[in-house]
Amino acid sequence: MKPKELFQSYKRYKGPFDYDCIIIGSGISGLALGAMLAKAGKKVLILEKHYTPGGFTHTFKRDGWEWDVGVHYVGEVGSDKTLMKSTYDYVSETPIEWADMGDVYDTAYFGEEKYEFKKGKEEYKNQLIQYFPEEKEAIEAYCKLLYALEKKSMLYQTWKVLPRFLRPLLSGFFRNPYLKYTSVTTEKMLDSLGMSEKLKGVITTRFGDYGLTPDKSSFAMHALLDRHYVYGGYYPVGGSAVFFEKIAPVIKSRNGEILVVAEVESILHADGKVKGVKMADGKEFHAPLVVSSAGVQLTYEHLLNRKEEYKDKFGEIGPSLAHHCLYIGLDGTPEELELPKSNFWIFPDGYNHTRNFKEFLEGKSDSLPLVYISFPAAKDPAFQQKNPGKSTIEIITLGDFDEVAPWKDKPWKKRGEEYEAIKERIAGQLEEVLYRYVPKTRGKILHKELSTPLSTRHFAAYSRGEVYGLEHTPARFANKNLKPETDIKGFYLTGQDVVTCGVGGGLMAAMLTATAILKKNMIKEIIREAKQKNAAN
Ligand SMILES: Cc1cc2nc3c(=O)[nH]c(=O)nc-3n(C[C@H](O)[C@H](O)[C@H](O)COP(=O)(O)OP(=O)(O)OC[C@H]3O[C@@H](n4cnc5c(N)ncnc54)[C@H](O)[C@@H]3O)c2cc1C
Repeated sequence: MKPKELFQSYKRYKGPFDYDCIIIGSGISGLALGAMLAKAGKKVLILEKHYTPGGFTHTFKRDGWEWDVGVHYVGEVGSDKTLMKSTYDYVSETPIEWADMGDVYDTAYFGEEKYEFKKGKEEYKNQLIQYFPEEKEAIEAYCKLLYALEKKSMLYQTWKVLPRFLRPLLSGFFRNPYLKYTSVTTEKMLDSLGMSEKLKGVITTRFGDYGLTPDKSSFAMHALLDRHYVYGGYYPVGGSAVFFEKIAPVIKSRNGEILVVAEVESILHADGKVKGVKMADGKEFHAPLVVSSAGVQLTYEHLLNRKEEYKDKFGEIGPSLAHHCLYIGLDGTPEELELPKSNFWIFPDGYNHTRNFKEFLEGKSDSLPLVYISFPAAKDPAFQQKNPGKSTIEIITLGDFDEVAPWKDKPWKKRGEEYEAIKERIAGQLEEVLYRYVPKTRGKILHKELSTPLSTRHFAAYSRGEVYGLEHTPARFANKNLKPETDIKGFYLTGQDVVTCGVGGGLMAAMLTATAILKKNMIKEIIREAKQKNAAN
């Protein structure tokens, strides 16, 4: 099936209006859950507000250029033996192909000082020890901790789908052992290991991957992220649109439907049971099962109209930070422009991310506290086939929603000169950083366009333009309501707020929600199918 045949516009849709399950949102979690339920025999409908399906995995096009919005690399897909890879395979019609980013998949620059993140458990550790030989003991203790937490985190997530009556009885085994690590901030944990400010700065290079500085993030989130990439970074061949292109056929070929420009206004329920959804135009779809992947805040405050309940249940968890992204199209191949496969993480001279960020937000420093550069044209072996002689780059910096908030109710592309001037200033700053670290790009830019937190708000419905949904603080991990099941029978949650951010986090959330709905151990099912496929090959 061609990508365009995999979905249709709600505007032209004539029915049916009854399904076994309705999923709100077509991001990785909505799609993967749709595929799991479709494989279990359910007739699934996915409703997506945007005109392009895929949530943060969608790509957007301008004048023949195409960019990824929310995927630059993923981990744990380099071997058939990982649960992550098996789960991607389980939900895809044919397996996603993964391009290895090579031995060095992330590179940090603190001013002129450079640090490389190497693929492999021993390589990662040894490289850190090479940079900080006098801190060998702390590095070894830290690396041990990364792997020791793996099983604890798995049990913690499993607790969320235990039968309701068993949850309080079994939290001592499933949940509590992990809380020791979730309840402490990254900064405190690294301090407790006796790390210097410089080493802490380097180890938390990827704090932008979960959008929270080390003084606020839960150590558990930091450890999950660091562990996720230990075996390298991988890029989906063909770009991030392949997530939709590979997963949607599983849904479509099993009587499912995916509708775009399909904004759900509210969730219909009566007598404690879900009935379906009401669309923004007043029409209704009915189903005994409804799942929202649209973010917990939006779901409770708007789709359920339960603002007070949201405050009671989740009020202590704030939104993650917002971001700006400069999308660039260039004349020249990655070889000509000397673009690396590795992502660049660029910081000011100081190694204290928390302080850098605070000073920037308070206007005490002009240096951007974090600039992240991704080079999809270099990562993707299929890029030159589609775009001969060209390259694309994405440059991200974490942003302040309040700076652009005055224009939040103005229409897209019509926000006025003052707003455009802010965009121009930020784009100029990001461009200068690019020229400093990738000098061959100077004079080669043919197209550029900046997105702001208002773009995220407009296109993905995150109210403060948050880059990763709810912030990954200790309070988030202590919360017992971020789980698939809700108080309304037949109504479930999924998505990055249920497990963690990241495409992998969304995929794992889909697996948890499918487990809760189907009352079936999905890990076993996924492993069973993976073994069967491997035996057949
Ligand atoms: C700039 C950026 C870079 C990132 N880089 C990476 C990376 O390199 N690697 C990685 O693993 N992760 C990355 N992420 C994170 C990752 O993309 C997300 O965590 C993940 O894709 C979230 O998936 P989801 O299904 O939970 O939500 P989403 O993808 O947000 O899907 C939710 C969907 O719900 C839809 N929706 C909302 N309201 C309604 C409504 N009322 N009616 C109908 N539909 C509605 C939205 O339009 C959206 O499509 C990045 C994210 C961003 C923003």
